[in-house]
Amino acid sequence: MQSRQLKLIHLVILLTLFVFALSTRSYANQKDGLLKIHFFDIGQGDAIFIETPSGYQILIDGGPDNRVLQRLGEVMPFYDKDIDVVVVSHPHADHIAGLISVLDKYEVANVFEAEEDYNSSEFKAWEGAIKEEGANEIEAITGKIIDFGDGVILEFLHPFESFVGAETDKPHDDVVVAILRYNNFELMLTGDMEARIERRLIMAGYNLDSDVLKVGHHGSKTSSSEEFLSAISPEVAIIQVGEKNRYGLPTPEILKRFDDYDIKYYRNDLNGDIKLTSDGINYLISTQK
Ligand SMILES: [Zn+2]
Repeated sequence: MQSRQLKLIHLVILLTLFVFALSTRSYANQKDGLLKIHFFDIGQGDAIFIETPSGYQILIDGGPDNRVLQRLGEVMPFYDKDIDVVVVSHPHADHIAGLISVLDKYEVANVFEAEEDYNSSEFKAWEGAIKEEGANEIEAITGKIIDFGDGVILEFLHPFESFVGAETDKPHDDVVVAILRYNNFELMLTGDMEARIERRLIMAGYNLDSDVLKVGHHGSKTSSSEEFLSAISPEVAIIQVGEKNRYGLPTPEILKRFDDYDIKYYRNDLNGDIKLTSDGINYLISTQK
């Protein structure tokens, strides 16, 4: 109980911005000034694990099942059973089902999500798992920033309005979108964002410029509109997609669009696990296959 209390985050309100500074951190592997991002090959779904230079650990979505546990076991030391922050992009099973097993095996301190209600068995199980875990549930909404120190911040861009407690039947409309920044490096995290939300972000006047794009909705043609690609002008796109998935993703049309925009892309179905390392200026990508 005591350690859970120590994990309570400090909340500082600066004008309209909410800045969270985390009070404790999980074990750092090594202090090397590097930000490490793993785009896990977990089948059809999203799961991204991030370790900041000072050792904060963040998991964004958990994929469709407990395969995420094996991946976490490969990148975290065996004695490390804490994760500082879990971010849920939206309540579809290919993003949250794996998180239920994560909460079972790891101590998770903070969960950021839109906190909306969704009628599915996976979502009910997920809600039950959070209650049991006793993790802090924090609303993810535009203007909130988590400050991890060392120049690393996670800045929430969407949703624009609060959906706490509201039942949704269209989770993609309320998707949690964020930019991870480490000095001059940016990663755009989109969940399953579709073109109409991409448009809202552009209209809102946000600086969307990013080095790397986590491609929205697994490379579906619902997402990655031309205007959005122009607004963020990424060098690299990462497509989280399962091998031989039944949706035929990524869509050839979208891959061609990346080629047209001179965006190099990686895919979990063909490249296996994808790892990105950044010192805040440059970045390096390595793949399992
Ligand atoms: Zn999805």
